Amino acid sequence: MTSEHVDVLIVGAGLSGIGAGYHLQQKCPGKSYAILEGRDCIGGTWDLFRYPGIRSDSDMFTLGYSFKPWTEPKAIADGPRILNYVRETAADNGIDKKIRFHHRVKRASWSTQDARWTVEAERGGAAEIVRFTCSFLFMCSGYYKYEEGYTPQFSGSEDFAGRIVHPQKWPEDIDYAGKRVVVIGSGATAVTLVPELARTAGHVTMLQRSPTYVVSRPAQDPVANKLRARLPAKLAYHLIRWRNVLWGMFFFQLSRRRPARVKQLILGGVRMALGPDYDIATHFTPRYNPWDQRLCLVPDGDLFTAIRQRARSRHHRHRHRSQSAGDGRHGSQCRRPRNRFRADAELQGHDVFRYPQSGGLVRLHQCVVDAEMRPDLRICLPPDQLHGPAWL
Ligand SMILES: Cc1cc2nc3c(=O)[nH]c(=O)nc-3n(C[C@H](O)[C@H](O)[C@H](O)COP(=O)(O)OP(=O)(O)OC[C@H]3O[C@@H](n4cnc5c(N)ncnc54)[C@H](O)[C@@H]3O)c2cc1C
Repeated sequence: MTSEHVDVLIVGAGLSGIGAGYHLQQKCPGKSYAILEGRDCIGGTWDLFRYPGIRSDSDMFTLGYSFKPWTEPKAIADGPRILNYVRETAADNGIDKKIRFHHRVKRASWSTQDARWTVEAERGGAAEIVRFTCSFLFMCSGYYKYEEGYTPQFSGSEDFAGRIVHPQKWPEDIDYAGKRVVVIGSGATAVTLVPELARTAGHVTMLQRSPTYVVSRPAQDPVANKLRARLPAKLAYHLIRWRNVLWGMFFFQLSRRRPARVKQLILGGVRMALGPDYDIATHFTPRYNPWDQRLCLVPDGDLFTAIRQRARSRHHRHRHRSQSAGDGRHGSQCRRPRNRFRADAELQGHDVFRYPQSGGLVRLHQCVVDAEMRPDLRICLPPDQLHGPAWL
């Protein structure tokens, strides 16, 4: 088998691979390179994920490239705009011409004697093996399995007549309007999905094993937008980027040195957004300190708005029905247990999902599994011990 030699071989044509191509062209114009991409398009994450409301959860002034100003009004940006940004970077700089699509890298071995990598890739649907050699192998292939996101096995899921959906493979035909949806998890994907689903779904429950710190930031950065209106694009971008980088470093250091204070600040923000009656201790207070794990960012407090709106509409409905069914400050599991969990026999033949350890059954129409970064996630709590903000 013949092999093709390049100085640098980049694997992956996502945000990183395109960035690597740019810097290589700028800093080492004499070096030859190629990008091997397993899929048929540029963009990686920002092309693969199609779930409703997909967006960044860091601001694009820091997630974006140092060399290409982010010019969109929203700093916390929608997925399609990020995809467009990556594709534009590739096209503007001729990086797209260096990409070999449908090349999935399978093996790489280093020879000290030859001071070279030998890389084997499967090409196209026929999976023909092609070989490359290079002096430098640049892995920009991301951090998760592209074929399938982590999907825990829930015993009893085969009896569930609704749909179980993983956000990594969001089906185009899914219609959740008016349906009852459970989102499993409370990480970045879940807090993005929930406000978006809540717009049209009949009922959305976010099911979390333990809470995450949630911080609201404006989707549009007013200072950045003012600077961009007055200064040349590149200068404004660099100033904002550095301000955000330094602020991020400061906040991280503060979290490490004064965790109690930062915790108080974050929880104070949630209390302001949800009001003094909301049970923040249960639903928004993690067992760990800020930045022990990743914080979740919500643009313009959309998650909190969704919670408040649902609480208001529920209050309204209840007034009209002259009912009093709890004070609505806890998760839906606590609010309407009788409606939500019934005996096995009652639900035979319906949309049934079994909670393994409790044997409890819940009737659902859709169930979204968000386990992207939660390989340890399991539903194993009895229904009356489930925690999480919920919407009725
Ligand atoms: C929904 C979502 C939101 C996110 N938001 C943020 C955020 O706001 N801020 C942040 O910092 N990060 C965020 N991330 C993480 C995000 O994935 C990265 O920031 C960034 O997009 C990673 O870019 P990448 O190019 O390194 O990897 P990817 O985007 O994963 O691209 C990897 C590329 O490599 C290709 N590839 C993989 N394996 C092979 C192989 N064997 N052979 C050939 N090609 C291969 C893939 O097809 C893909 O095109 C988010 C992730 C998700 C899923």
